[in-house]
Amino acid sequence: MNELNLEQLKLWRRQFHKMPEIGWSEFVTTATLISTLREMGYQVLSGKKFLKTDNILGRSQKEVDIGLARAASKGITPELMEEMDGLTGCVAVLDTGIAGPTVGMRFDIDCVAVNESQDLSHYPFAQGFSSQNPGYMHACGHDGHMAIGLGVALWIVTHKTALTGRFKLIFQPAEEGVRGAKPIAEGDVLDDIDYFFSAHLGMGCSSGEIMINPLGFLCTTKLDFRFYGAPAHAGINPHGGANALAGACHCVTQLMAIPRHGEGMTRINVGTLLAGEGRNVIPATASLQLEVRGGNQQINSFMTQQALRTGEGIALGFGLRFEHELMGEAVDLYNDEKLINLVTQIAVKEMGLSPQEGLFGGSEDATVLIKRVQEHGGQAIYFVLGSTIKAGHHEACFDFDEISLLYGVKIFTNCIDYLCQEHQ
Ligand SMILES: [Zn+2]
Repeated sequence: MNELNLEQLKLWRRQFHKMPEIGWSEFVTTATLISTLREMGYQVLSGKKFLKTDNILGRSQKEVDIGLARAASKGITPELMEEMDGLTGCVAVLDTGIAGPTVGMRFDIDCVAVNESQDLSHYPFAQGFSSQNPGYMHACGHDGHMAIGLGVALWIVTHKTALTGRFKLIFQPAEEGVRGAKPIAEGDVLDDIDYFFSAHLGMGCSSGEIMINPLGFLCTTKLDFRFYGAPAHAGINPHGGANALAGACHCVTQLMAIPRHGEGMTRINVGTLLAGEGRNVIPATASLQLEVRGGNQQINSFMTQQALRTGEGIALGFGLRFEHELMGEAVDLYNDEKLINLVTQIAVKEMGLSPQEGLFGGSEDATVLIKRVQEHGGQAIYFVLGSTIKAGHHEACFDFDEISLLYGVKIFTNCIDYLCQEHQ
């Protein structure tokens, strides 16, 4: 059994850093997690035993196929491939056999589509652990989240006889684009969780700092719009076609004209527009990738409804068929008081971390898991674990301070220890 120390945490982090995989294609990552957690003595569930497949969002078959081929080339066994069922992520469960709380934790596992820096001033490159999957990089710190998760897992098994209750360590796929939480939340993994912990490294906090109750989480909905028209000769028969490109262009300008909401913050962005087949053909297809955000769920659903109505209206006007697909979603965050106090006691009073207050300013689908836990009567928290970073999240030179891995494990495990003691 490996010993839990900073060196071991770094080894895990660097192993994951070398093999970044984009959301829903994290097969090598998931197989590594399953094997490591089983070796520690966990029951590990993956595939359809872990995710409710009806609720999978934003999964590209092309990326899945590339991920499956990569996993085969890296020697992932047929048994593990079959077990994963073409799906990624897993939950590791350990039951102490003694009555006590069920503690759940979330660690996200996907990377971003960024080409990692190959400059010698970039520490992972200089140290020889930079991405071996060109075009993809752990540029958000999720490699660190997984290392913390394995560290917590190892601490739990080595302290099992002194603990009570059950532990569920959730390794979530596809956090980028807020896609992976919903199929976990809609399954039964979270149903019995009494306390739920989740965190992110960096995000504006430096090493030695912690933001225990980040504010300003935006609710968001990611949508794909598709318009289908009819092709026709652009010179002889333009009136015989139905122009999907023209419809899509009108849709973009109309989406930007959705009125602002008087009761809180709104955002809308159309990130891509793909349309048309050829210069002299009336364009028969067009697709948009867009997102809306809102300061709360009511405002976000106002934005979503307005966007959908715009798409439908444009399609009617241009004689097109309209389809939309939900690609991702996150909600707002309300940390529970008891866990705010507990993390404050441990991280600030006992470990001496400096508490920070501030806005998160983005979206995160741990909120979908948290909401589900709270609906079932559990309590939950999401905090920002400070780590000095070399460049912004999602940038080619992103790197975090590995000492924060140890802080992360300590906060999670000291919280677990407290909750088990409280129950005895
Ligand atoms: Zn992230």
